Amino acid sequence: RGPSVSLSPPAIRVRPLTCTETRRGDRQVVHSLGDGTVHVSAARHDATFGFSAVFDVGASQEAVFEGSRMRQLVELAIDGFSCTVFAFGQTGSGKTYTLMGPPAQSERRPAAPGLLGLMQRSFACLLEQSRSRGADLALSASYLEIYNEQVRDLLNPGPPCALPLRWSKTRGFYVENQLSVDFESLEAITDLLQQGSQRRRTSAHTLNRHSSRSHALLTIHVCSRAVSACPALGTGGGWGSSKQGVLCFVDLAGSERVKETGSSGELSVEANNINRSLLALGHCISLLAKPRGKRTHIPYRDSKLTRLLARSLGGSGVTLMVACVSPSSRCLSETLSTLHYASRARRVTTRP
Ligand code: ADP
Ligand code: MG
Repeated sequence: RGPSVSLSPPAIRVRPLTCTETRRGDRQVVHSLGDGTVHVSAARHDATFGFSAVFDVGASQEAVFEGSRMRQLVELAIDGFSCTVFAFGQTGSGKTYTLMGPPAQSERRPAAPGLLGLMQRSFACLLEQSRSRGADLALSASYLEIYNEQVRDLLNPGPPCALPLRWSKTRGFYVENQLSVDFESLEAITDLLQQGSQRRRTSAHTLNRHSSRSHALLTIHVCSRAVSACPALGTGGGWGSSKQGVLCFVDLAGSERVKETGSSGELSVEANNINRSLLALGHCISLLAKPRGKRTHIPYRDSKLTRLLARSLGGSGVTLMVACVSPSSRCLSETLSTLHYASRARRVTTRP
């Protein structure tokens, strides 16, 4: 039997106006009204959306971690469930910030602990839990990016090369030859995250100086081995039941309109690939949102992203979505589209 939660309704995070936006006089058109609603008010738009959790501009990273039920997700992964959290929204809306915090100033000056994102907080929680439960947990991580419809291994120190994405009856979609690195401490997993993120494909453009041009998926494999030690019988520590849980963090590349970001050449090829895979994801989500009886075939095969997310979207996983939006009047149409996207995702139900 599955746990009582399935796909959590999406959480919304509204970031503060950036210095640049404030300087050029952008207005804040997105407000949280408390009670889980977001209000968008601008000249010709006036709309209210309801969600389970809304984090307004003042919300701390800790408040987002605690309020988004992320802790529960970590516990479910330890219990053997396949859990995924993904951040989506326009480029520059705060996805990477929400997942990982602000970029470190330099290697010697990492971000302040209070600013650490959902990922680092989950790692800490996971390691803490594994200590307090006294369970014998084996943890390992893999880290991939999808860049221009190619899957690359971010833990591989060599030059980026594309890995094949395959399907098998027993495993579903999987990436061949991806590295998986064991870790036992917070420092070790934090280093892996740091190293992998530096290999990620980013480009500077008008909306965000460190814009991610790829979708990144960090997966933590949690293998809990319940030891049924019976020393009296001299069996050594035979393994009792073992559980294989997964905790996956997905930092989606931002949607964007090519016109607005001044993308051209290589950048516009990237943008088109990003937009196409986000469209495929949106399409799968809207089909999944239909009542079970009325569902048609779900086209996971339309993009690498949807193939890799098939398990978490398609019913056997527990998924938390965080939709990130900018409060600026200039981002109005993208913000509305993110909020509509998130509203559709609300209706998807899964059976973990
Ligand atoms: P995305 O990953 O969606 O493209 P980022 O996470 O890189 O966007 O955020 C864009 C900019 O806004 C960055 O400079 C980031 O530090 C800042 N930012 C985002 N969210 C917040 C927040 N909640 N509080 C303060 N600054 C934020
Ligand atoms: Mg980003």
